Amino acid sequence: MNPLRSRKNSLRYRFIVGLGAMMLPLVALGVGAVVSLENVIGTFEKTEDETLEELFPLTDLESLIQRAAAPVDNYFNQGKTAERERFLQLSREVDRAYATLLADSSDLPEKQGLIETSQKAWQEAEKSSLDIFTSPDPSNDSKAIESKKIVDDRVQSAIISLDRLYKLLSHLETADRLSQARQLRESLRLAIIVAFGLGVGVAALAAVMLSRSILRPLRLLEDGVEHWGEGDLSHRIELTTADEIEQLAIAFNSMAQKLEQSQTDLRNLAILDGLTGVYNRREFNLQLRAELERSERYQHPCSLIMMDIDYFKKLNDTHGHQAGDEALRVVATLLKQEVRPTDRVARYGGEEFAVILPETTGEQALGVAQRLRETIAIASIPISEGMIIKVTVSMGVATFPTDATSEEALLSLADRSLYSAKKSGRNRVVKSLTPSPN
Ligand code: GH3
Ligand code: MG
Ligand code: MG
Repeated sequence: MNPLRSRKNSLRYRFIVGLGAMMLPLVALGVGAVVSLENVIGTFEKTEDETLEELFPLTDLESLIQRAAAPVDNYFNQGKTAERERFLQLSREVDRAYATLLADSSDLPEKQGLIETSQKAWQEAEKSSLDIFTSPDPSNDSKAIESKKIVDDRVQSAIISLDRLYKLLSHLETADRLSQARQLRESLRLAIIVAFGLGVGVAALAAVMLSRSILRPLRLLEDGVEHWGEGDLSHRIELTTADEIEQLAIAFNSMAQKLEQSQTDLRNLAILDGLTGVYNRREFNLQLRAELERSERYQHPCSLIMMDIDYFKKLNDTHGHQAGDEALRVVATLLKQEVRPTDRVARYGGEEFAVILPETTGEQALGVAQRLRETIAIASIPISEGMIIKVTVSMGVATFPTDATSEEALLSLADRSLYSAKKSGRNRVVKSLTPSPN
């Protein structure tokens, strides 16, 4: 097989490209799914970190406030004066923590409000705590007892405000996370639908293209094989797909050409005369029968010329068989040249020829025969280097159905006319036993 004109046209290449195109959306879908999953997990981790970052300072501050309230309790119950210093130190830390919280800008107005409420309560608790520390015996001092109640209440209020903020923030973060998750789910669903649609579209397109590029040529191949199966070996498959199927078509065509050639050779062998190339006696009989049937059906005349070379034995004897063979070949060639393509020339016997003239009257046939006789008589036959000979022929002509109404009668009449031509001097034509002038 010849190499393909272009690798891009090969079926293998088209299959790989087609299947690749079909796989592409699937691969994209797989990669997209992994990336989206990573994104989802990443987003949740990030929001988790951000949430903890926002909530930690609140719990820190709560425990700081509780720690700051402890020295006040200790001083109130046990009168430990050193607790004042500890309280001052811790309350400064609490103040700083509030300042830091408030400095953090937030787009949530409730956050600011709750911190401020908590801070206000703390500041009142802080103020009343300092009042307690000014009393030498606070647990027995009614003013200090009153202040202690305020401290407990305000510390509680400060912590409650921070708790509310804590709950609000965690609730908001959860809602935020849920909405993000929903958004991601929507985009993922959209991506899956798009990739799936794309995959189906590409697969359908690739399938149509592949089937077109394979099915049509296959139909042409099938059509070609059918033609050959029906005996039409001249049929050729016209394919210019430049792929493996075209290679197959080329191989098929060449096979059909060889078959057609050998069929022609065999047929020629069966119907042609080996020496002269005109029809043989068997084929002449078949053709004469067919022509006479047609002639009868369409009511057209059909003429027959029987011809015999004069003194052929003498030619053989004088110049040899090779020269005789050459004379036979030249006479056959002249006959074929001089008659119409629809006329049939055959070698009837040794040096006898017959010519079937369909749709030709007796008069016309006589004219043809005279012309043939003259052509042969003046022809030069080269038989060896520088040596030429001449031959003459005698002819008998008969016409169907005017002279004879059957095949046998026609043959017999033409033969008898030929005999008559020989008898009356040779190199002449006799039509239906009636000699015609040379
Ligand atoms: P006439 O004018 O009466 O026809 O005389 P003729 O010599 O042609 O007739 P005859 O029938 O006596 O001789 C025919 C010869 O043709 C006899 C035969 O040897 C020769 N012949 C037949 N077939 C061939 C052939 O294929 N090649 C050659 N060279 N001679 C052939
Ligand atoms: Mg003869
Ligand atoms: Mg003869």
